Amino acid sequence: MSRVYNFSAGPAAVPQEVLETAQKEMLDWNGSGMSVMEMSHRGKEFVSIAEKAEADVRELMNIPSNYKVLFLQGGATTQFSMVPMNLLRGNNKACYVNTGAWSKKAIKEAKIHCDVQVSASSEDDNFMSIPAQDSWNIDPNAAYLHYTSNETIGGVEFQNIPDVGDINLVADMSSNILSREIDVSKFAVIYAGGQKNMGPSGIALTIVRDDLIGETMAGTPSMLDYKNHADADSMFNTPATYSWYLMGLVFDWIKKNGGVKGIEERNMRKAAKLYAAIDGSDFYANPVEVSVRSRMNVPFTLANSELDALFLSEAKTAGLVTLKGHRSVGGMRASIYNAMPGEGIDALISMMAEFERTKA
Ligand SMILES: *Cc1c(COP(=O)(O)O)cnc(C)c1O
Repeated sequence: MSRVYNFSAGPAAVPQEVLETAQKEMLDWNGSGMSVMEMSHRGKEFVSIAEKAEADVRELMNIPSNYKVLFLQGGATTQFSMVPMNLLRGNNKACYVNTGAWSKKAIKEAKIHCDVQVSASSEDDNFMSIPAQDSWNIDPNAAYLHYTSNETIGGVEFQNIPDVGDINLVADMSSNILSREIDVSKFAVIYAGGQKNMGPSGIALTIVRDDLIGETMAGTPSMLDYKNHADADSMFNTPATYSWYLMGLVFDWIKKNGGVKGIEERNMRKAAKLYAAIDGSDFYANPVEVSVRSRMNVPFTLANSELDALFLSEAKTAGLVTLKGHRSVGGMRASIYNAMPGEGIDALISMMAEFERTKA
């Protein structure tokens, strides 16, 4: 068997220890005589798995008790709809910050339901920066302000939680949740799809302050009402049980690796090393403003784009895969989420140096 270093943006690498545990437990979970995917979601075995996952993520993120933690289906994309449907609460206006491709998708969906005020946009800068906070145009009467804490495609990441006063703050943290310490109490809603930093696809984590639950817009389907999921402990219908279980194993892994603080320190070292290698070379370049470079997604270009295909094939030979940049950006992108070990970064850096030395 030979495992590669997988730099995919999502679904992305999962810690090997997690996969090994899942493998060990595949046929017989904890003496139950069956796989987790065969269990009733209402049986005591699965309920214990579900409750442990919730308790662990509450501990890891220090989630205050007045927040509900929901394990939902439909990915982060469904949250693009659920956020306005649940948070508008009679208001017809929401503010959005536009920092790239994922912000734009969230804005497009919100426009179906309300008047969207784009409070700030870095589109004129080709999404290579984040607009200075004092330039944001926030309507204090809007129902909420939404931003994307890490733009997975552009490789742009907020380094701090924006200070937006009393307005309800909503964040799409799909690609950087659990990668750095954050103060959950500053948020109304945090949501994230599972397949970047928490394991498999098919499940999204939504953390919502409980006073905001229960006043959906007219016509909201039951499945899109946070209250139904909150009241049923995310078992309003059959949840994505196996994804939930794997997510729980990932939470366990983070706990064993120093918690979010330990993971954050490791992420900082990994990203700093890779950016230093890019900046130290005349052949590779990263176009993002230095102060907002992402620790999770590192896009880079080669000085000669005709060498892109050769770079990808040599990388693959070296066991480094899924480095092709998003089709909208071109070049390369190394996604280096929590599960990417430091050795993967070292292997990429030495392959890049060797390629530059021999092919550039
Ligand atoms: C991947 C991603 C999404 C979409 O997630 P799905 O689970 O495919 O719906 C949304 N926002 C961000 C920032 C992402 O990285």
